[in-house]
Amino acid sequence: MTGLKQVNQQLWLDAVPLCDIAQQYSTPCYAYSQSIIEKNFGNYQNALNNQPHLICFAVKANSNIAILQTLARLGAGFDIVSVGELERVLIAGGKAEKVVFSGVGKTADEMRRALEVGIHCFNVESEAELCLLDQTAGDMGLIAPVSMRVNPDVDAGTHPYIATGLKESKFGITIDCAEDTYARAAAMSHVRVLGIDCHIGSQITEVAPFIEALGHLTALVDRLALKGIELEHIDIGGGLGVRYRDECPPSIEDYLQPILEQFKSRSETLILEPGRSITADAGVLITRVQYLKNNGEKHFAMIDAAMNDILRPALYEAWMDIKPVEANTTATAIEYDIVGPVCESTDVLGRNRSLAIGAGDLLCICDAGAYGFSMSSNYNSRPRPAEVMVDGREVHLIRARESLADLTRGEHLLPERKAP
Ligand SMILES: *Cc1c(COP(=O)(O)O)cnc(C)c1O
Repeated sequence: MTGLKQVNQQLWLDAVPLCDIAQQYSTPCYAYSQSIIEKNFGNYQNALNNQPHLICFAVKANSNIAILQTLARLGAGFDIVSVGELERVLIAGGKAEKVVFSGVGKTADEMRRALEVGIHCFNVESEAELCLLDQTAGDMGLIAPVSMRVNPDVDAGTHPYIATGLKESKFGITIDCAEDTYARAAAMSHVRVLGIDCHIGSQITEVAPFIEALGHLTALVDRLALKGIELEHIDIGGGLGVRYRDECPPSIEDYLQPILEQFKSRSETLILEPGRSITADAGVLITRVQYLKNNGEKHFAMIDAAMNDILRPALYEAWMDIKPVEANTTATAIEYDIVGPVCESTDVLGRNRSLAIGAGDLLCICDAGAYGFSMSSNYNSRPRPAEVMVDGREVHLIRARESLADLTRGEHLLPERKAP
């Protein structure tokens, strides 16, 4: 058995009690299950068995090099949005030729590095970027492989902060202008037109928006073919949602089945860029209750994790399940707001949660394996948590807890002021 489970009134991740992890590595601490990551990636691979494909894990969802290594070992490609993510992929043993480079603001330096190592393609998001890429590749005497990120103007039905496929979004090239952009790219001497891509948003819990977007893409691909521009791949991005509370996203298989249906009559390679659906349910954030208090109106549980460690509730009003790590048999259940120590009113990890807890108890914030640590910061000068990987019975430290000295690394005091 793998995953998060209840064993004798305790929460375990795979074969390891979470309280053992807290004891050894202290709190707050991120813990990931290697087997769940492997299972999720395997579900993509199995469903795509008969279809030429490349699964590019979206590095921004979880960028720890041990996570990337786990996926690289399974043959994953990677979707990156910065040269920093590219270096992580290379350190983790990922192959440059399986990397796609997304993002609206790539710099010439980033392009140079990606050209130097030979990535699969640049997912170009504007004509200005296309021109800079042509010039940069030209300066290096290279040809840049490109895909145009088109904005298919579909409503993904997700939180506005994570919807990216509508006309008013900053991402991609408006689909109506894309034909012109392709024509211009085809005429450039240092780019090679390879594919098309889109990414309509994140935490999408229905299949219909993906199919709608794919329909717009394939129609454009067919129009381009008539003009003599033949594409080799279609990249439909990431965005498949997971269950945090009561959402009912399709399984990976049910999400892919209708997409594969569309590809039956096509020859292009299918590229996917899943992030959340690979790592979200593989991770937890273990935290300890520091104090309880009651202000007359409300009960609060102050925990040692905060919005700097896990930003989703504060940034997206996201609901994340919070469970006791061990049953507390002496406490009675009360509704608490679970809050962190950061000096912001939005530092609430969970509202109105009925929990039987006491000070000193451990809590587990569930499904924290995507957009958890990767969005963390040092706000309020808080060292970032440790990260560990659970592999069956074994626990490996994959990122040490930051020290107080780490907080000021790279900072400099000003020189002495000269006496007046
Ligand atoms: C964030 C992002 C993804 C991954 O999205 P998930 O919802 O985590 O699957 C894929 N592609 C692009 C371009 C992204 O920006």
